[in-house]
Amino acid sequence: MGKKLCFRCNARSALLRRPKNGQPYCRECFYDAFETEIHTTIVESKLFVPGDRVAIGASGGKDSTVLAYVLKRLNDMYNYGIELFLLSVDEGITGYRDDSLETVKRNEQAYGIPLKIVSYQELYGWTMDAIVKEVGLKNNCTFCGVFRRQALDRGAALLGANKIVTGHNADDMAETVFMNILRGDAPRLQRCTNVVTGSSDTLPRCKPFKFTYEKEIVLYAYFQKLDYFSTECVYSPQAFRGHARAFLKDLEALRPSSIVDVIRAGEAIEVVEEVLQSTPNRCVRCGYLSSQSLCKACVLLEGLNRGLPQLGIGREAMKVQSELLASVAEPASAHPIASENTNDGDASASASVKAPKASRSARRAANRHQPHSEETLRKLARGREVTHVPEVDLQDALSW
Ligand SMILES: [Zn+2]
Ligand SMILES: [Zn+2]
Repeated sequence: MGKKLCFRCNARSALLRRPKNGQPYCRECFYDAFETEIHTTIVESKLFVPGDRVAIGASGGKDSTVLAYVLKRLNDMYNYGIELFLLSVDEGITGYRDDSLETVKRNEQAYGIPLKIVSYQELYGWTMDAIVKEVGLKNNCTFCGVFRRQALDRGAALLGANKIVTGHNADDMAETVFMNILRGDAPRLQRCTNVVTGSSDTLPRCKPFKFTYEKEIVLYAYFQKLDYFSTECVYSPQAFRGHARAFLKDLEALRPSSIVDVIRAGEAIEVVEEVLQSTPNRCVRCGYLSSQSLCKACVLLEGLNRGLPQLGIGREAMKVQSELLASVAEPASAHPIASENTNDGDASASASVKAPKASRSARRAANRHQPHSEETLRKLARGREVTHVPEVDLQDALSW
């Protein structure tokens, strides 16, 4: 490291090159710039009002750990007057979530923020370990995404929280913009760049890291010596996102502003009104907000509990829906199945409104389903390793 002076204060010697703009920064100026930008996002988007009870979705990973640390700091520094809580979801993933939860528990002590843990086991009667044994590694992220979304809402309700904040950063958001464009998903493209998402009926989800670069989060955690868990989920290949991410990282290497530029582009795209229609509704079974008569979690659970997990996926979901609707008190005819699905999980529910031919597709699903042995799972997992997303490369930031 050379004796370069900090670009900002021009007094202290530089410690790193800021990934966002390539300029040399000293430690103090980097911390201050990093925190001030997050504060600006919070103030400009009016994220909080005094008295808010704010649940931080805490996974123990770098993003939510830095988020908890910075929010506590900003709350003290600028008197937001909000009450903070750590909210963790235990998906039941041995060797991943059990370890990362230990990190969250240490952070509870270190930051003095109370922690609440809700588990898939207690909410749904299934752990992800058990689900993966049933469904294998292909659609498991669908289950996890749908279940986590509801679990956060239910956990926040237990805390009496009125807002949920998540550690989604600028890179995540730019990737999501790409993915929604590539999928032609206009409604999601429209809302994925919002700092606050969620409808009037669910708790607002806020993203104070909307403009915060992943590389800067890693650098901040590193220099502040924050305690976080860095292993990736053992079940999460996320191949499609991996490609979007690799593409974005290539763009970032060429021009660091690319990440914010993609977010700005996503914001500027306007989708005409009629494309955005959706019918807010409640799940007739569990009462959770859903655009369809049954929420995605109930459909997936029904498949799992019948021993036919594929029933909850894609076109087969429609069949479960209609069967379940026939068996609940509400008349099915009163709830035409909408083609849009408002869940933010990666589920690609079929847009077909036509019911598939029941008996044949049920037979097909039954034939397809065979519980996976440990050995098969290990093989599948090994096969997935090639699609792993690239590591965060901090070469540029730390050496010149
Ligand atoms: Zn400085
Ligand atoms: Zn439901």
